[in-house]
Amino acid sequence: MKKAILFICSLCCVLGGTFTSYASEMQTNELLIVEEEQTAEAIAPTIFVADTSQIYTYTMMQNDIAQLTRMFPDKIQYEVVGQSTEGRDIYLLILGNPKAEHAVFVEGSIHGREYITTQLIMHMLLNYTVSYDTNEAYQEMLNNVCFYIVPMSNPDGVSISQLGEACTEDENRLSFLRTLYKIDKTGYQSYANYLARWKANANGVDINRNFDAGWNTFLEHTNRSSEKFKGVTPASEAETIALMTAFSKRDFDCVLNYHARGEVIYYGALGVSSELSAKSKSLAQLVNSVNHYRMIDTTTSSVCVSGGFGDWVMMVQNTPSIAIEVGRGECPVSQSEFSSIWKKNYNMWEFVSYYAKNVK
Ligand SMILES: [Zn+2]
Repeated sequence: MKKAILFICSLCCVLGGTFTSYASEMQTNELLIVEEEQTAEAIAPTIFVADTSQIYTYTMMQNDIAQLTRMFPDKIQYEVVGQSTEGRDIYLLILGNPKAEHAVFVEGSIHGREYITTQLIMHMLLNYTVSYDTNEAYQEMLNNVCFYIVPMSNPDGVSISQLGEACTEDENRLSFLRTLYKIDKTGYQSYANYLARWKANANGVDINRNFDAGWNTFLEHTNRSSEKFKGVTPASEAETIALMTAFSKRDFDCVLNYHARGEVIYYGALGVSSELSAKSKSLAQLVNSVNHYRMIDTTTSSVCVSGGFGDWVMMVQNTPSIAIEVGRGECPVSQSEFSSIWKKNYNMWEFVSYYAKNVK
């Protein structure tokens, strides 16, 4: 009989209580777990995402996935749905009741430098699981809707942006990055700045332009780059295939794509039915009612591009999708901005679960 008993420490109090002084209270990041048959042995795992004052890396996420799925096995499971170009595992987390009739797909960090979206997603996951027993709304949400979450779709791009050349020991990869800088460097302050602003995967392909959904019409970049190169063929990249694999697991009521620039919500996609467009717009309106970000219809604005995961979800999978851009300005978003992002978005999935249950 293994029954985990959580000793409520300051983290749990913060997560279960108000969020008004959240950032200042995030000092303690340890949960104590004592197994019923091992009361003499206290195990104190570190949950890195509890401390939001620091940049959240791929290895921190790996640790947290292992710890959280061990601590809350009835609420979170995980699968590996592929490996990145550099061999990093791409994780699919399943939060809530896997047998639920309704399901929402969530994806973050498809663009490397937008890694704060992974931290937001993992912190939401921590909040929902830790607060579950005392929060009836979260119980309702997770009992009736299942969330399929790829928290870091592009772990190589994230690692390039966060770590620079320390992201890899592969000399060929480093040589490739230096070569691309020589081609791309106009507009960047330095090589370090170039790597920090990296969006693509480690092959210099923008995963969010690599999907077979209007791929032929995107002509902005013709060579490998830190951003906006769509690849030599649709779905040429391992990360693209991993997202398609994750999405194939079941039917979804809607999709949330997390990005990090401009506090906007993009909805709609070219060439889809008016019915599907309306569903995407109503999802955007719901999200707007929570975080108050500006809504933009991608089919009527100059920002319309194609080949994105959201385009593929709408155009090929006939499923409503939106992109939520959580940061105020340039990426990478300053770490000091996390607390304001959190306050505007922490309970978002609770509202989205109502949408999932009612969308027809
Ligand atoms: Zn993005």
